[in-house]
Amino acid sequence: MITGKNYIGNKLSGNGSKTHKTVNPKLNIENTTAFVEATSEELEEAIALASDAFKIYKNKTGKERATFLNAIADEILALGDDLLKMYCSESGLPEGRATGERGRTMSQLQSFANMIETEDWRLNVIDEAIPERQPMPKSDIRRTSIPLGPVVVFAASNFPLAFSTAGGDTASALAAGCPVIVKSHAMHSGIGELVASAIIKAAGKTGMPNGVFSNITGRGRTVGQALVKHHKIKAVGFTGSISGGRALFDIGNQRTEPIPVFAEMGSINPVVITPNAIVARAEEIATTYAGSITLGSGQFCTKPGLMLTVDSDKTQAFVADLAAKTVAIDAQCMLNPSIKSSFVANGNLVSSQEGVSVVGRVDGDVDTNFAPSQINTVSGKDFLTNPKMHTEVFGPFAMVVKSKDEAELIHVINSLEGQLTGTIIAEESDIKNLDGIIDALQSRVGRIIFNGVPTGVEVTGAMTHGGPYPASSDSRFTSVGLGAIKRWIRPFSYQDWPKELLPDGLKG
Ligand code: NAP
Repeated sequence: MITGKNYIGNKLSGNGSKTHKTVNPKLNIENTTAFVEATSEELEEAIALASDAFKIYKNKTGKERATFLNAIADEILALGDDLLKMYCSESGLPEGRATGERGRTMSQLQSFANMIETEDWRLNVIDEAIPERQPMPKSDIRRTSIPLGPVVVFAASNFPLAFSTAGGDTASALAAGCPVIVKSHAMHSGIGELVASAIIKAAGKTGMPNGVFSNITGRGRTVGQALVKHHKIKAVGFTGSISGGRALFDIGNQRTEPIPVFAEMGSINPVVITPNAIVARAEEIATTYAGSITLGSGQFCTKPGLMLTVDSDKTQAFVADLAAKTVAIDAQCMLNPSIKSSFVANGNLVSSQEGVSVVGRVDGDVDTNFAPSQINTVSGKDFLTNPKMHTEVFGPFAMVVKSKDEAELIHVINSLEGQLTGTIIAEESDIKNLDGIIDALQSRVGRIIFNGVPTGVEVTGAMTHGGPYPASSDSRFTSVGLGAIKRWIRPFSYQDWPKELLPDGLKG
């Protein structure tokens, strides 16, 4: 049963007067529940509880925190159809996606739980003393990793479960020993409240301190900015727009005590297709990429938005085929009306630039919040001179850049801002000649896919989901996969400590 209230620790609270409603984008109507924005007193209380909870939670053993994370996964599953129905009504995404994303959310929690059962993730180092060293004795120094403190997580619009209330940021921060306050996404506050109720239930069942988790609702920047400004908050996780991520990053850095704001933002994910690949399997590539561009209505941070080719007759035919195959796929619903209007505005901005040709666009009417897919093309020369063409169009939209030769194609890669992914589609015979392309791509992206598609991000130990700015605010970290825990910890060294005072993992 949804209340529209905030979870301030384990208490439901809705003292404010400002409310908002979510939208069912498929039906283009407001859902019924009014969600109450947290007051400044409620924010203060949630932060005080998180700060107090940190003193207890950071000292829970890895096994105890793992039990908590596993219990969250169980409680999410126990929400059953209520969660799936809420997911579909607030996101316009189909039930199959809801079930898949719920599974991914649970397996992320379980993977972090599994990882913290042992102490290996802390990367402990023991440098023993050498008392007889000359001219000075060497101290005993032992390094471990400790949690930063209370973390604020901004739920993402495009993954209402896996990058939201109990998503990767929350799972990794809780795994590290940091209490979490979630700023729920205003367009899926109902999903947020349901998942928050599961986390609160799991915390109660596993003996976690009140304040280890809070869920805050609100719309219009005030609540989120107040959370990031608060001196008791020690780090922030964000997935969303470049403007939002940058604003929060700046706030975090302008505080008297600056804090890390890990923002995962825009990316157009360049895909290089070699001339040999176009000759050998143009049709197969067009089919695969029409599917990847339109997957989830193009609302993935790893959607391939930019395809880089060398111009030829075969390339022209490939672009026409890609466009035909893309527009033949049924238009799908977007997450909410504001994402639809950004899609239209940014799509128009890019396709109205001089030199851009629209090769295919769904003709005729689509339902109000549905996205007509679009494929465009431009020469390498025009793309290089107009940065507006590099704008992310979040939705089923892609640009094919036709360069005159490989040197110009490499120049195009060098002109791009930082990206989450790059992809190379090549033949066996190309492999020994790819050095220039690989070198250029590696300096712009966090992950290179070979002969595949960038959509689909595995949650594994080796995954990098991040990249140079603006793909992320700190390219040294990943926001997906087990490495995501590193964002919420800091190194700490014990020097010449009595063994009985050292944590177990450092006793040696
Ligand atoms: P968003 O506008 O960046 O909002 C995400 C969250 O950040 C919301 O909770 C929002 O709070 C908060 N926020 C944004 N700007 C803020 C600011 N200046 N100060 C404080 N809080 C701020 O993202 P969105 O609503 O999810 O989608 C908008 C656009 O972002 C999309 O059209 C797409 O272009 C892009 N996007 C990109 C990705 C990606 O992975 N690359 C993912 C999702 C969205 P309020 O609700 O309180 O305003």
